[in-house]
Amino acid sequence: MGKTAIITGAGQGIGEATAYRLAKDGFNIAVADINEQTVTQVAQNLRDQGFEAKAYIIDVSDREAVFQLVEDAINDLGELAVFVNNAGVAFIDSVIDSDPDKISRLFDVNLKGTYWGIQAAATKFKAQGHGGRIINAASLASVEASALQSAYSASKFGIRGLTQSAAKELAADQITVNSYSPGIVRTPLRDSIDARTAEIKGLSVPEQQANCLTEIGLGREGTPADVAEVIAWFASPNAAYITGQTMLVDGGMHFS
Ligand code: ADP
Repeated sequence: MGKTAIITGAGQGIGEATAYRLAKDGFNIAVADINEQTVTQVAQNLRDQGFEAKAYIIDVSDREAVFQLVEDAINDLGELAVFVNNAGVAFIDSVIDSDPDKISRLFDVNLKGTYWGIQAAATKFKAQGHGGRIINAASLASVEASALQSAYSASKFGIRGLTQSAAKELAADQITVNSYSPGIVRTPLRDSIDARTAEIKGLSVPEQQANCLTEIGLGREGTPADVAEVIAWFASPNAAYITGQTMLVDGGMHFS
């Protein structure tokens, strides 16, 4: 196995926490994001802590750019070991009123972006010949949809199907494909979801957040670090025999 881990959407939130976590496990870290400012800062933070890291500015919906990212990261940091398809977007709206352009963009980023990441990483893993790990961002919304999240949930159900199909196809090459399914994790994305949900439901943001909290068995929201821990496990030798799975990281909101 190589030593490089590529993490998309690594400028903030779960992706950022994953970058720090995988660096601690000894991977060279390629952080990729559409937001130049945040991702550049994350790479700098990692280097300041003595880790090998480089930032790449990329829109994951651009297939060629994703393939180029893999080439560049390997040239800069060494053989590829792990690809984390973490970049994603969300919007909250009713199924009837959801804007067609927003729906298309969401599918382009979440579903096609993950598709391109799998294609680019798997192509490279096959050529390298030492297996590899692909880890995709699903969501609690990939197993149990909430109201007002039709496009998001459809994309995340899709990511789970994509994960399973790719896992079956790629297993013979010792390439594992898994996904993680966060419940309510406090990130900038969650802030925007809460704000819009509260607006549509006519609640205050604290009321909306308090309602959500009652659904979490363990009594607190998740943190990006809680999710990064699961991603690190999927990337580790301990998870060598696990493929095609999703791991719920939701504090006991849902049992499958
Ligand atoms: P999460 O809850 O998954 O951490 P965030 O919104 O906090 O959600 O983080 C998602 C990250 O994905 C952000 O840094 C954002 O800039 C990044 N991102 C969103 N769209 C794209 C895209 N098309 N290409 C690359 N990165 C993206």
